[in-house]
Amino acid sequence: MMLEGKVAVVTGGTRGIGFEIVRKYLANGAKVVLFGSRQETVDKAISKLAEENAGWEVDGMCPKLTDAGEVEKAIAAVKEKFGRIDILVNNAGISQSTPLYNYTAEEFDKCIDLNVRALFYAILPVAKIMKEQGGGCILNTSSMVSISGQPAGVGYPTSKFAVNGMTISLARELAKDNIRVNAVAPGVTKTDMVASLPPEVVARISAQIPLGRPGEPEEVANAFLYLASDLASYVTGEILSVDGASRA
Ligand code: NAD
Repeated sequence: MMLEGKVAVVTGGTRGIGFEIVRKYLANGAKVVLFGSRQETVDKAISKLAEENAGWEVDGMCPKLTDAGEVEKAIAAVKEKFGRIDILVNNAGISQSTPLYNYTAEEFDKCIDLNVRALFYAILPVAKIMKEQGGGCILNTSSMVSISGQPAGVGYPTSKFAVNGMTISLARELAKDNIRVNAVAPGVTKTDMVASLPPEVVARISAQIPLGRPGEPEEVANAFLYLASDLASYVTGEILSVDGASRA
């Protein structure tokens, strides 16, 4: 198994891409703590996973990801319980598609707070733990819009360009501590995030995908599995596109 004995934290692990990452990691031998926004959805996700395989070691918490203090406490609790953290997946995120002239500063800030600031809040305490234990792997969730931009909802592509900058910079800074930092940049993927878009928007986007269809959450999770595994031991500072070539 590719992640035998590793301990992973996955934010936004209750549904969509995050839930598939959690499943894939558990199926490959990792112990996983998923972070969700509400206890109810965390409990539901854990029961679903336990139904699939009662032997999987999965736990859940719901710290407010945009509160540095809460995140630090949650990370400390994971270290206390499992003794180490080998993999951090920053997956939680919100998308926006509001045209500029209807945008508010609050909406913009909400996107930057969760999609950028919260990554920093989780990475800081985790990197300290990884340094002390001799290494680890940090994975961020970018998007194809971090390459192509997006014609509305400017906060979202702005946040994902920032994710790429944080990923590449921290890969260079943390390499000396044996911490690899990479990101996965999904294209249109079949999750609630996409279901919440108007159907005509989804149809228009899908028609432009060279592979002719949106991605499945599992296909994106496969990239997170590869990057977390020893198969990617010399890969760091990479933004791995999983988008059917739609970024071009
Ligand atoms: P989703 O809406 O299905 O899931 C988002 C996850 O983030 C959920 O678990 C949710 O609980 C969590 N989350 C949202 N707001 C939160 C908050 N304030 N605090 C804590 N957790 C919160 O979306 P998804 O499609 O699975 O997206 C996962 C990641 O993939 C996001 O970073 C998103 O930007 C990225 N992404 C998705 C697509 C796509 O087409 N689905 C494309 C590119 C990138």
